[in-house]
Amino acid sequence: KDIFGADRKNSAGTNIEIASEWQPFRESVEAFTDHHWTAGAIVNGEVQTGDIYKVTAPYDRRESVGEVAFASSALVAKAIDVAAEAFPAWSATPAAERGACLQRLADLLEANTGELVALCHREAGKTIQDSIDEIREAVDFLRFYSHQAATEFAAGKPVVGFDGQERTLTYQGRGVFACISPWNFPLAIFLGQVSAALAAGNTVVCKPAEQTSLIAFRAIQMMLEAGVPAGAIQFVPGRGAEVGSVLTSDVRIAGVAFTGSTETAQRINRTLAARDCDPVPFIAETGGQNAMIVDSTALPEQVVRDVVRSAFASAGQRCSALRVLFVQEDVADRVVGLIKGAMAELNVGRPELHSTDVGPVIDATAKQKLLTHIGALKNQAKMVAQASASPDCAHGDFVLPTAFEIRGINVLQNENFGPILHIVRFKASELDKVIDQINQTGFGLTMGVHSRNERTYSHIERRARVGNCYINRDQVGAVVGVQPFGGQGLSGTGPKAGGPHYLYRFTKDVFTA
Ligand code: GLU
Repeated sequence: KDIFGADRKNSAGTNIEIASEWQPFRESVEAFTDHHWTAGAIVNGEVQTGDIYKVTAPYDRRESVGEVAFASSALVAKAIDVAAEAFPAWSATPAAERGACLQRLADLLEANTGELVALCHREAGKTIQDSIDEIREAVDFLRFYSHQAATEFAAGKPVVGFDGQERTLTYQGRGVFACISPWNFPLAIFLGQVSAALAAGNTVVCKPAEQTSLIAFRAIQMMLEAGVPAGAIQFVPGRGAEVGSVLTSDVRIAGVAFTGSTETAQRINRTLAARDCDPVPFIAETGGQNAMIVDSTALPEQVVRDVVRSAFASAGQRCSALRVLFVQEDVADRVVGLIKGAMAELNVGRPELHSTDVGPVIDATAKQKLLTHIGALKNQAKMVAQASASPDCAHGDFVLPTAFEIRGINVLQNENFGPILHIVRFKASELDKVIDQINQTGFGLTMGVHSRNERTYSHIERRARVGNCYINRDQVGAVVGVQPFGGQGLSGTGPKAGGPHYLYRFTKDVFTA
């Protein structure tokens, strides 16, 4: 049973450790090894032409993956016209019918896993496991929101009073929603935002991250095939500074869902505030300076397994990823020694290989930023360990997983969105100071705690200002409907994605008595 008490199952994915599942899976992905994808804006169901953006593989820049025709500002305005015109009909479509289109899309994603996994590798540089998880999460978002819309928005909700009078709350779409999504979850977050907006009865103009427009384009093609009307969904790939700002400054936009950097969220917030029109909902999921606190009662082997996954899985390119590990000094030597050993075992390489643990980062700009940070820390801090890369990484945007010991979290100015772990030792008497320093960063996304002392972890959980606190486990990979995900402070507005309240933020509620 999920959080609504419903018998909704999450997607099973593929178990690549079982030969009978691995073999057909591998063949279905390999069928797209040399495929060249083309994409463009889709406005009213028609693919549009535009300036060409060439996509190359993050793990080998000599390899061409496809090309995308970016949308012009004029096309974005046209897409908003089309979505605005389609709004009355889509919002009047019964919620169960809207949901059924999204359920069919979930089935289509599962039927096309081979192509979508190939796109995750070749366009986004995702490893096999990350690619499978990506598609599962997209499927889960679709099924979760469509199920919720069909059950909760189908009819007005009775509001119980004391006088026997009938009262009803009805949830309706707000208008045209702008959905702006990141490259690190190019299918899951992209479709999570879009499906929530559509399920709630809005029409949508969506802009994927410029680095990952191909997979988003395929998802929109499948969405149309699944029966979402051509007017209800407009797709406008392009650069954030152009397409994103035209989109968010248009007064017809009735709400914005955004996942990406804190700076961009703040910019969108200012743009929305400057518009001379109704105030609208802004749902932002942004970055973090996520910490894990390990006390002397923790189990070192378990800590290390969870640290390595939280910091280095997906090449550290998750907003939930662990950035700063606080280890109580009594166990620090042991934990740091084990981390060193585990990092020596990490395979950094081409994402489509079964043996790869850590793939490339998204692009040369990201790589350069991370290398600059590593370079600066080499002079100020002690490098604990650095993984090594396989020789076939020479032409890709790889950053080696690296761990440093630093003096404190305040040494770090920004979120470093990649496989870099910072370690800080603390004394038992300094626990509250540590939590307060974490809070003072202003971010509040995830936190990990490793302790077998219930009083300690309960105390940390109460004092820390974070959206998702994970105890004695890793802190990445929130599961839709099971671990609602989202932060506070500089990390975002909530409500949590994959949680019971997200969909409501996309609606207006109308009361009748
Ligand atoms: N929901 C993801 C997780 O728990 C992170 C989402 C993001 O990076 O934006 O790992």
